[in-house]
Amino acid sequence: MTVRWGLIGASTIARQFMIDAIRNQPDGEIIAVMSSSADRAAAYARENNIPKGIDSLDALLSSDVDAVYISTTNELHLEQALAAAKAGKHIMCEKPLALTTTDARKMVEACTTAGVVLGTNHHLRNAGAHRAMREAIAAGRIGKPVAARVFHSVYLPEHLQGWRITKPEAGGGVVLDITVHDADTLRFVLGDDPVEISAITQSSGMASGGLEDGAMCVWRFKSGVIAQSHEGFTTRFADTGFEVHGTDGSLYARNVMTQKPVGSVTLRTEKGEEQLAFDREDLYTRSLRAFHAAIRGEGTPSATGEDGVWSLASAEAALESAKSGKTVAINPGL
Ligand code: NDP
Repeated sequence: MTVRWGLIGASTIARQFMIDAIRNQPDGEIIAVMSSSADRAAAYARENNIPKGIDSLDALLSSDVDAVYISTTNELHLEQALAAAKAGKHIMCEKPLALTTTDARKMVEACTTAGVVLGTNHHLRNAGAHRAMREAIAAGRIGKPVAARVFHSVYLPEHLQGWRITKPEAGGGVVLDITVHDADTLRFVLGDDPVEISAITQSSGMASGGLEDGAMCVWRFKSGVIAQSHEGFTTRFADTGFEVHGTDGSLYARNVMTQKPVGSVTLRTEKGEEQLAFDREDLYTRSLRAFHAAIRGEGTPSATGEDGVWSLASAEAALESAKSGKTVAINPGL
C-alpha cells in the first residue's frame, strides 16, 4: 500500500532532505504541499515536482493524503497536528513538537485518541554513528557510563537567519532549535532519561528580540551520569562531537552532530583504540522507513511523540534554568 503524503509547510528542511526521504521509500508518494501563501504553494509544488500546491489546511486534510509532514515554524505545529489527528492522518512532526511541553503532550494524546502514528523528526538517532555508540554502551564496552559531552555549536547558515534568530513568538532561539536534538541524542545514546538541567545562555550578536544564540547546559541523568552540552548558532569554525566516558572505556565521536551520515566513532580502552564501523545510510530516509513500518503496525517511529515530549521538556527546563539561575527538574509529565 502506498503512503500518500501531504507536506504542511513549504520549508527548507522538506526541500533539502524530507522530500527525497519520502521518495526514497518504495511505498512513499508526495501528493500535495500546503503553504499559507497560494503563490508559494504553487511555486514550491512546481519546483519540487509535487502534483498539488494548496493554501488551506482544511483542503489538504480533506484530500486523500494518508500522512502529513509538518515543518512549519514551531508555533504552528500544535494546531496543525491537532487538526491532522482529527482528520485521521498519520503525522511526522518537526521538532520542537510545540512551544510547551503541555502542548506537546496534547498532540500525543490527540494522536493516541485518533489511532494515528505520531513521530518526531529527531534525525540524529538515525545516524549510524549514534547507533554504534548506543550499541557499544549497551554491550558494556565502556563499562559503567559516568559522563558525556556534546559539542553542537554550529554557524547558522545565512539562508536560515530568519525567524530562528528574530521571532520568539515562532519558537526561535538555539535551545528550541538545537538543545532539543541534544536531549534526544543523549537519551538515545545513553539509554537513559535526564532528571535535571542547569543552563546558561547568551545572545552573542546574531539573535535579537531577547532570543539566545548560544547555550551551555549541564545535565544529570537517572543512572547518575552527568553530561554537558554546548549549542550555538555563531561559531563558524567549531567542530561537532559527542563523547561518552565510562569506567572501562571512552567513546569519541567527531563530526556527528550533523544532518549527513558522516563522522567517526573511536572506542578507547586499556586495549588501545578501535574505530567503530557503522552504516552511512541517509538519516532522514531511515527515519521515514521506520515511520512507514509504524503505519503498517510494525514497530514505532525512530523517535516517537513521547520522545518529542521528552526533548521539549528538557529544552523548556533549560530555558527556565537560564532565566532563574537555578537547576531545574525535567518533567515530561508522561
Ligand atoms: P523555513 O524557514 O525554511 O520554513 C518555515 C516556514 O517559513 C515555511 O513553512 C514557510 O511558510 C515559511 N517560509 C519559507 N520560505 C519563505 C519565504 N521565502 N517567504 C515567506 N515565508 C517563507 O524553516 P526550516 O525548514 O528551517 O524549519 C522548519 C521546521 O523544521 C522547524 O520546526 C524546524 O525546527 C525544523 N527543522 C528540523 C530539522 C531537522 O533536522 N530535524 C532541520 C531544520 C529544521 P509556508 O509554509 O506558509 O509557506
